[in-house]
Amino acid sequence: MTNGECIFCKIVKRDIPSLIIYEDEDSVAFLDINARSKGMTIVVPKQHFTTFEENRELASKIFDKALIVAEKLKKGLNPITVFFSVIPAQIPHFHIRVYPVYRDQIPLMENKPIETSEEELNDVARRVRTIPVEWKGRKEEVEEKVTEEKKEKPRVKDEEDVFWAKRGMDIA
Ligand SMILES: [Zn+2]
Repeated sequence: MTNGECIFCKIVKRDIPSLIIYEDEDSVAFLDINARSKGMTIVVPKQHFTTFEENRELASKIFDKALIVAEKLKKGLNPITVFFSVIPAQIPHFHIRVYPVYRDQIPLMENKPIETSEEELNDVARRVRTIPVEWKGRKEEVEEKVTEEKKEKPRVKDEEDVFWAKRGMDIA
């Protein structure tokens, strides 16, 4: 498949209509029409690449965008929580799925898409699109730093110290 045939590239370029709920210079997020739960959204980079190794910088930004989208979905649709997934299958254009989770809609892959209508999808898109999110993504570089766990003996209460000292004497 060349980039010209990629369905997500076509959505980005508006060659295929979609219900976009978020867009900025790097990304587009649109409602999945085969949603497993109400408001299930796909977040894609505008630039075509398949695996995160091909463009780590942009992939990292897309994770930030997924958090922004998740907040919009939570505020707009009031789910219990949201799930995220990155499954590099079917469409070779990097994407993160954001799934709102409701009591009666657990978005498992083996579940059938929920029944919905164009009207409902439009309504969801309208509602979520206008929700403001203050957080705009990570700005600073993150330095990896693994802190070694301290192996100090945990402090025990005086009472316990006395108890064990006494037990020691008893045993001796
Ligand atoms: Zn593409």
